[in-house]
Amino acid sequence: MVNDKDLLSFDYKKDFPLLAANDVAYLDNSATTQKPACVIEAERDFYLKHNANPLRGLYDLAMQATDIYEDARVAVQKFINAKSEQEIIFTRNTTESLNLVAYSYGLANLKPGDEIVTTIMEHHSNMLPWRMVAQQTGAVVKYIECAVDGSISDEAIDAAVTEKTKIVAMAEVSNVLGRLNPIAKAISAAHKVGAVAVIDAAQSAPHMAIDVQKMDADFLAFSGHKMLGPMGIGVLYGKKALLEAMPPFLSGGEMISFVSRDGQEYAPLPHKFEAGTVNAAGAAGLHAAIEYINSIGFEVIEAREAALTKLAFDAMQNIPGVHIIGGKTAEEHKGILTFTVEGVHPHDIAAILDADGVNIRAGNHCAQPLLDHLCTGATARASLAFYNSAADVERFINSLSTIRERMGYGR
Ligand code: PMP
Repeated sequence: MVNDKDLLSFDYKKDFPLLAANDVAYLDNSATTQKPACVIEAERDFYLKHNANPLRGLYDLAMQATDIYEDARVAVQKFINAKSEQEIIFTRNTTESLNLVAYSYGLANLKPGDEIVTTIMEHHSNMLPWRMVAQQTGAVVKYIECAVDGSISDEAIDAAVTEKTKIVAMAEVSNVLGRLNPIAKAISAAHKVGAVAVIDAAQSAPHMAIDVQKMDADFLAFSGHKMLGPMGIGVLYGKKALLEAMPPFLSGGEMISFVSRDGQEYAPLPHKFEAGTVNAAGAAGLHAAIEYINSIGFEVIEAREAALTKLAFDAMQNIPGVHIIGGKTAEEHKGILTFTVEGVHPHDIAAILDADGVNIRAGNHCAQPLLDHLCTGATARASLAFYNSAADVERFINSLSTIRERMGYGR
């Protein structure tokens, strides 16, 4: 059990060199998280002591590099409780993982009139690849709409998923609303009609435990850099039988077991989907990030993030002219608070906060159809991680409270 009194007292920032060296309240964690020293060290250690091209050389150094890379895969397998490490494909990021599914599974399995069901709140990365594949196959993309509070009802899922549906793609947590989506319902609705379910876990993997077997997702994607790991390493989980039946996404070196003048045999999973020289140092960094997360535990991470979110949410309710998008309670925001300030452009909000040492994001958050659907236009977004402190929230709130006055409005 996490003790409420001690919950926010521990200083995690000392583990993060950038945060220890800079006096900023970093509240742009949904875009990318800061990196603990152990992650930076793991990447550095790879290049300092073990650098060789993994999966190729037969000399000791190359085998060390291979072991480091494959150990990271096993760490990811355990992290999301996949049945086999062959189900873990390393990619560059969530975007590449989703494109892999769209190009490889989508192009091979969709025909004119088939339907791909996604939601209006998806990040462009879980929307544009489906449109691309629909254009090329004659399939149709359908959107599940959300209510003003960001919720998606079971009825909306049931209405959208039909016998024509072949793919259901949904984010577990929206990067704008921070709301936990009904993925269990979406996955079971997909399976009822024989469709596959693709889960975008970019905003959930850093914040809560994921069990792909319990969830029964067919594919699940996330990025290392959003969960304390390095940029340039991402993950695609896929059920083995599906991955085995899919054609490669990229082809070339590394992903074959045999090539003749006119033919080739592809490498077994997972290497069939990892063409070219891999990002072994990135995988080592992701492995270190997973170990660091495990050493803290999701019970503590979730409890701290919920406490910080509530502090910020409650204080924002009391600032005149500030409006939070989506859920009406703090519990409906998994560390993400997207908001507007009446009469102030989000870029001005971000610039003023920055002048006070608070880093947030402003713009459309790569989810323009959602902002159109909610009629908000551009917004500002503060996103929290467990290593943020109550002092970070206070600094944010203090600065936010002055914005309208600084822009020439009365308080
Ligand atoms: N999906 C969601 C929900 C996201 O928040 C993001 C990143 N903001 C992405 C996909 C894309 O992630 P990446 O840029 O790491 O590919």
